[in-house]
Amino acid sequence: MWLANTKADLRARLSSEKAPVILVPTMGALHPGHASLIDLARIKAGANGTVLVSIFVNPIQFDRAEDLESYPRTLEPDLAICNEHGADGVFVPKGGEMYFPDRSVTIIENNLANHLCGTTRPGHFDGVCTVVLKLFNLTRCDAAVFGEKDFQQLAIIRRMLRDLDLETEIISHPTIREPDGLAMSSRNRRLTLEHRADTPRILRALESASTGNTPQQILSDARDILEESPFGKIDYLSLVDAETLAPAETLSSPTVLACAVFYGNIRLIDHVDISPRA
Ligand code: AMP
Repeated sequence: MWLANTKADLRARLSSEKAPVILVPTMGALHPGHASLIDLARIKAGANGTVLVSIFVNPIQFDRAEDLESYPRTLEPDLAICNEHGADGVFVPKGGEMYFPDRSVTIIENNLANHLCGTTRPGHFDGVCTVVLKLFNLTRCDAAVFGEKDFQQLAIIRRMLRDLDLETEIISHPTIREPDGLAMSSRNRRLTLEHRADTPRILRALESASTGNTPQQILSDARDILEESPFGKIDYLSLVDAETLAPAETLSSPTVLACAVFYGNIRLIDHVDISPRA
């Protein structure tokens, strides 16, 4: 497995690799959720194709300086996971490699990003789209694998592809969870033991509320369970249309019940799909 730290290294390495190139973009601090994305990329690439993992803590998608500074960075174990799961190469650029100090062009998504995480993280998805487009251009990947855990991110990346006529295939992978239901996340390792023990409440709240008969009932049932937490503070709790991400007024089409909850300064997100009621 090779490691490239610069765009020039990456280009040189990729010039001798075979298609299809399947990219797994990450911010590192890899866990079994990321590993299953790499496994899926390996299957899609086949024995002769190329699996490339990128590890880059993208500064322009962080809305809170404190979150960027404290984001876990664990390169050595990350490289071991990439290797064990069959990656052919890993791209680990430094910030200066990716962004010119006077960079002045950014992708802006101003529809789907006006809901859910976008409402409390201004500019976050513009930063995500910009780095994803740069990674697609740098790697010329045929396909890229993303986790459904970040379902708004996935929806916005699909929208970027549609609106900018990009031809990269987007492959999604279901959320990988801890045995008690907490969605795996690089941020989980920063939770205190007390907070960690309370976090299965998030999925429990979403799942038990999802059987409700009206949007109002679903939202109030989920809110009750989340608000009983002595530690978790709701950032948002929304029931949205699965396609437009706008607040759902009925249950007649597919909807998503999604939330973000702060435990101290750690923000956790999760969602469940709700099928339409007859
Ligand atoms: P991140 O490093 O958090 O930016 O995540 C990199 C990729 O891994 C994204 O496509 C995420 O959606 C995906 N991912 C993160 N956590 C999980 C998980 N628990 N299950 C599945 N995919 C995940």
